[in-house]
Amino acid sequence: VKTEGKGNFRFFQSRYFEAIRARLETEMELRNALDQHQFIVHYQPRVDLAEGKASSMEALVRWERPGKGLTGPDRFIPLLEETGLIVRLGEQVLDSVCRQLADWSREGGALVPVSVNVSPRQFSQSDILALFHSAIARYGIDPSLLEIEVTESSMMQEGIGESAVFSQLRELGIKLCIDDFGTGYSSLSQLQKLRFDVLKIDRAFVLRIEHPEGDTLIASMIAMAHALGMRVVAEGIENRKQMQLLKTLGCDEGQGFFFSRPVPPGARQAVASREFQP
Ligand code: C2E
Ligand code: CA
Ligand code: CA
Ligand code: CA
Repeated sequence: VKTEGKGNFRFFQSRYFEAIRARLETEMELRNALDQHQFIVHYQPRVDLAEGKASSMEALVRWERPGKGLTGPDRFIPLLEETGLIVRLGEQVLDSVCRQLADWSREGGALVPVSVNVSPRQFSQSDILALFHSAIARYGIDPSLLEIEVTESSMMQEGIGESAVFSQLRELGIKLCIDDFGTGYSSLSQLQKLRFDVLKIDRAFVLRIEHPEGDTLIASMIAMAHALGMRVVAEGIENRKQMQLLKTLGCDEGQGFFFSRPVPPGARQAVASREFQP
């Protein structure tokens, strides 16, 4: 029994060190990826449900590993957040979005605003105002072409929702969006104080829209957002039925695979000019 216990201990000990080693290795790979600028941005249109046209696009980061194809953000964002490296990723994503917007405006054609996801760490550990200010200046782009997405739950962390930075960003001309709404626990008064432009209903609610009572919940979110002067976007729309229900409920915009998957920047024109039958 005694020897068996010892063997178990060694087993767990080696599993433990193996986990640490794997984590350190991934962290090193991510640092290297940042140094080598291996992160690229794809764009997913957000469609105006009344007009059936793209009204903006969301910037979604991907890791392009040499010889290994694309890796999605859910696989690396958590570790970047834990290590604080998310601040560097945020800088690179914003730089690449602003450069892209400048290129697109030179090319001509329909130009729609781009929304960028910002991690709570970027608020607490970096000067987000200076970051946006300098990126806008570097590429000479119109600030109204940028929107910031902050998740409802991150707003509740570290008093980020209380910060004065949001009104300063708004003064720069940048729009503000609450992402993944319904998964955090913000109060009505907090929402009122924030004075955001856009509210994005989390995909989980769209998934349940056809279930009993699923639409009542969404209807009340829409009513509340409209009462606070916000536009409402539903994310994760995958079929026509969901889109039509949301439109009937008064939702302003929709995003999801039904309209388009996130696409590389070269496909922008095709997506931006497409008409979606309501
Ligand atoms: P998110 O901000 O909620 O982004 C929406 C996610 O849903 C994207 O996943 C998108 O590809 C996916 N999606 C869009 N339409 C549909 C649909 O119809 N069905 C389904 N099943 N999924 C849909 P993605 O690109 O894997 O991004 C995952 C998360 O990673 C994002 O969730 C966001 O929180 C984070 N993220 C992405 N890019 C960045 C970034 O540049 N910075 C930071 N801090 N986070 C990012
Ligand atoms: Ca988002
Ligand atoms: Ca979201
Ligand atoms: Ca999400």
